Amino acid sequence: MTAILSNQITGQEAWRADARCGTLDGNLAATFFSEELQDIATAKRICAECPVIAECLEGALERHEPFGVWGGQLFANGKVLTIKRRRGRPPKVARPEDEFPVIPVPERLVPLLRTA
Ligand code: SF4
Repeated sequence: MTAILSNQITGQEAWRADARCGTLDGNLAATFFSEELQDIATAKRICAECPVIAECLEGALERHEPFGVWGGQLFANGKVLTIKRRRGRPPKVARPEDEFPVIPVPERLVPLLRTA
C-alpha cells in the first residue's frame, strides 16, 4: 500500500510516514480500491485506527479522488459515498457483512465534502 499511496499522493505530505495502511503487510491496494462491500468495510476499519486519518481525508477531498477508500471515506467520482449497495436485488434482511463502519468527518473538513 505504501507504493500505492506514494504513487497516488503527490507533494511532500510528511504525514504519509504515519499512515496505518503503509505499515500493514499484504496487498492492501486491492482492499482499498475494491468494489466489494466487505473489502470496503475492511479498509474503513483500517482507516478508523489510523493516526493521520484527517490529513489523508483532507488530501483526498482536495484532489477530488475518483475512487477508493481514503481517510475512512469511500470515494466515487470525486464524491464521498455514504452508502453503497450490493449489485442485484436487495436482500429482505440486511446482511451484517454489508454494513460499513460509520467514520465521522472532522468538523473542519465538512465544508469540503461533496457527497453522492
Ligand atoms: S486514513 Fe486510511 S487510506 Fe488514509 S493513510 Fe490512513 S489507513 Fe491509509
